Amino acid sequence: MTAPRTPARPPARIVIENCAIATVDARDTEYASGHVVVADRLIESVGAGPAPAGLENVVRRIDGTGHLVTPGLVNTHHHFYQWITRGLATDHHLFDWLVALYPTWARIDEPMVRAAAGGSLAMMARGGVTTAMDHHYVYPRGTGDLSGAIIGAAAETGVRFTLARGSMDRGASDGGLPPDFAVESLDGALAATEETIDTHHDASPDAMTQIAVAPCSPFSVSTELMRQGAELARRRGVRLHTHGSETVEEEQFCKELFGMGPTDYFESTGWLGSDVWMAHCVHMNDSDLAAFGRTGTGVAHCPSSNARLAAGIARVPDMLAAGIPVGLGVDGTASNESGELHTELRNALLVNRLGTHRETALTVRQALRLGTYGGAQVLGRADRIGSIEAGKLADLVLWKMDTLAHASIADPVAALVLGAAAPITLSLVNGRTVVEEGRLTTVDEDALARATRSEARRLARITADGRP
Ligand SMILES: [Zn+2]
Repeated sequence: MTAPRTPARPPARIVIENCAIATVDARDTEYASGHVVVADRLIESVGAGPAPAGLENVVRRIDGTGHLVTPGLVNTHHHFYQWITRGLATDHHLFDWLVALYPTWARIDEPMVRAAAGGSLAMMARGGVTTAMDHHYVYPRGTGDLSGAIIGAAAETGVRFTLARGSMDRGASDGGLPPDFAVESLDGALAATEETIDTHHDASPDAMTQIAVAPCSPFSVSTELMRQGAELARRRGVRLHTHGSETVEEEQFCKELFGMGPTDYFESTGWLGSDVWMAHCVHMNDSDLAAFGRTGTGVAHCPSSNARLAAGIARVPDMLAAGIPVGLGVDGTASNESGELHTELRNALLVNRLGTHRETALTVRQALRLGTYGGAQVLGRADRIGSIEAGKLADLVLWKMDTLAHASIADPVAALVLGAAAPITLSLVNGRTVVEEGRLTTVDEDALARATRSEARRLARITADGRP
């Protein structure tokens, strides 16, 4: 007896039509009025005019009139836990700000990290982020499974996610900035990072969760942790992330402690390469930029955070000219309280116009590329996300551009980048709806608001008690 044959299930299709489309493909192809067809997790087709006739199993057909479709935004630098320490030390530069906040950060625990991650992720997802990352580097002893809490929050929010498993082992007694009780041992940090890779890293091209090795910064990490961290990442085939060249103080710190600037220090510890991306990179001379370009080292540009901490203006036009992959980052919300990435498109353009290149610094289309394809490159995932092309994963956003805020701007990309933050009618990740009519469909925003407020108050209380 033979088993009855089950017919192959046709993919569930979502059809979006009559919308402007900025594909952000290699040629920056745009359609004034076009269609995107999503089949299960993948983009099946994109093009001008209506969708092909006769498609089977169309579960949803959306009239996108008055909308712009772009790839989903990709965030390349963040610290989720800071969601519960926003609005503190508001008039400080980086080092003073870190010294002011470390004693608070050192008291985080698993429920706090879980709530803060939920808040950070929700804020980004409701603004069009479809791929998020968290550089988490504060692991106080005995505080639970912080990495697991963060990864759980990302899965619940429904976004694609990279956890950059951070670490600090250079406490104040070793000449570092963090207090000793906030740092891990060298061996402890390496073992915990490898365990996180074992437990959570998905190496497949369609992965929803990936892990990177991410010692915090030269001023909080020993040279040995930098070196062995790079070796660990390469042995396990995962990416490397850290902070680099953020401020003039950092440059001085590196010169005093290591006898060289940050980029030379990174090179000497194995930290330049096409599998590395660094946050900020504000203070880079021509030879630093050439080294990044030669090695393919990527940059997470965080314009709002750099302005908030008076760090300076990263040389993004020069980076792009040198062939450096550049994405955008929110950075932690203790230095960018808005927690949004979509407004960073505008801020990246505006901040760079204030730099040496002035009006030729960045175009609106380059700004959109930084926030989408550039971010995908930096995370090593540009083969599957970051542009709207047939065969890529269905991570995309339908922005509503026909309201008072944008309707009088003829160019929808200019409207998105230069105008007010645009409302979102639909955001898909892996073909799944994450935002619908401006609201998250995966998590309860109001419950998150209550949880984050209560955890922020608990942290403030514990810090005020002053117990280690
Ligand atoms: Zn950062």
